[in-house]
Amino acid sequence: MSPKVLDDLIAHYRLSSPLYVTRPTLPSLDEYAGLLEGVWERQWLTNEGELHQRLERELCEFLGVEHLNLFCNGTIALLVALQALGIDEGEVITTPFTFPATVHVLDWNRLVPVFCDIDPVTFNLYVDRIEESITPNTRAILGVHVYGNPCDVERIQEIADRHGLYVIYDAAHAFGVQYKGRPILQYGDMSMVSFHATKLFTTGEGGALAPKSAEHYARVNLLKNFGIAGEESVIGPGINGKMNEFQAALGLLCLKSVDEEIVRRREVARMYGEGLKNVSGVEIPCVSPDVERNCAYFPVLIHEREYGMDRDGLYSLLKRFNVYARKYFYPLCSRYTSYRNLPSASPDRLPVGERVAKEVLCLPIYGKMEKHEAATVIELVRQLPQVVGGSSMCGGKAATADT
Ligand SMILES: *Cc1c(COP(=O)(O)O)cnc(C)c1O
Repeated sequence: MSPKVLDDLIAHYRLSSPLYVTRPTLPSLDEYAGLLEGVWERQWLTNEGELHQRLERELCEFLGVEHLNLFCNGTIALLVALQALGIDEGEVITTPFTFPATVHVLDWNRLVPVFCDIDPVTFNLYVDRIEESITPNTRAILGVHVYGNPCDVERIQEIADRHGLYVIYDAAHAFGVQYKGRPILQYGDMSMVSFHATKLFTTGEGGALAPKSAEHYARVNLLKNFGIAGEESVIGPGINGKMNEFQAALGLLCLKSVDEEIVRRREVARMYGEGLKNVSGVEIPCVSPDVERNCAYFPVLIHEREYGMDRDGLYSLLKRFNVYARKYFYPLCSRYTSYRNLPSASPDRLPVGERVAKEVLCLPIYGKMEKHEAATVIELVRQLPQVVGGSSMCGGKAATADT
C-alpha cells in the first residue's frame, strides 16, 4: 500500500473524537440530584433502601419476570446463583466464547468448567455438542446469550430435563430481549443480567438475578446479604452482593430512556446492515425472526481471504481513524492459562469457537452515536481493504503503530 493513500484517507475520515464500541446514555445531572435529595433526607444509603425497592419492582415489570434480586454487579450475582441452586461440586457445561466472568464464577465455586463448542450461526452453546460432554459429574448447563441473541433455550431445557441438570443463563447482554414473544429471562432456572457501564441498561456497576421460583428468590436475598436471616441469626456463608441507593437512582432514570435507547440502536444497526451487506468478506450474523433484539452489540465476521485483510488488520487500522471496535470475544476462555489445560479446552474440540474468535469484531453502537459516525465506520470497512490491497506490509505497520 502506498502510505500516501492511507494518509489521505486519514486526513479525510479520521474522527475528531474517539468513537468507542459503546457509551452510556446518562440522565441529566439535575434529575439524578433530585433522586439523591431523597437519599439525603432518609440517610439510608444501602440495604434494600427505597430506591432499591422501587427499581426492583420497576425492573420486574419491564423485564417481564416475577422475581428479581438486585446486585452490586453481575459477576457476584452469577457466583451467588450457583450457590443458591446448591451446585457445590462437579462439572458445569459452558461456552468458551464469553466474557471471563462466566467461567471464573465456576472456578470460584470450585466447579469444573467443561467447554462446549459454539453454534456457527448463533455463536451460543452448540446444542448438538452438549450431550457428548455430559458425565455422571455434570450438574448444570451455563449458557450465555451472546450479543443478546438467545441460546436454543427449548432444546437446552429438553437436554437438562433428560439428564436432571440445572439450566443457568448468563444474560448479561440480553436486557429486554424477547424470544417467541416471551421475555428471555423466563427461561432456565435462573438468569443473570449485568448493568455494567458498558451494557445497554446501566447502574454504573450492577446486575440482577431472575430466579424462576419464589424459594430461590428468598434464598438469593439471604446469600447476597451475608446469610443474615435476622438480627441474631446467620444461616449460611453468604456474601455482600447488595446494590446501593446511588446505583438504584441511576437505574431508575436510565430505565425511563431504555426503550428509546433500543430504538436508536436499531437505527444504527439498520445503517450498518444496509451499508455492509454487500461487502465481500464481511459477514453479518443473522438473527432468528423469533427474536426481538436489543441491539446491544453489532458483531461482524471478517473472512480474511474474501475481505483482503484479517480481523486484526482491520481492528488496528480503524484505531488510526479514532474508531475503537472491540474483539468480543478474543481469546476464548479456553485459552486462558487457568483453563487451557482442561481436557475440554483443547482447540481441536472447539473449531467453531476458535474460528469465530479470530474473525469477530464488534463495531461501535450506542444510542447517541451520530449518523455521520456510523457512515464513517461503514466507509472505512468498505474502503480499507482496497487501500491495503492485500499488502501484508500494512498489517504489520498498523500493528506497530498501535503498540
Ligand atoms: C459484562 C458481562 C459479565 C459481567 O458483568 P459485571 O456486571 O461486569 O460483573 C458477565 N458475562 C458477560 C457475558 C458479560 O458481558
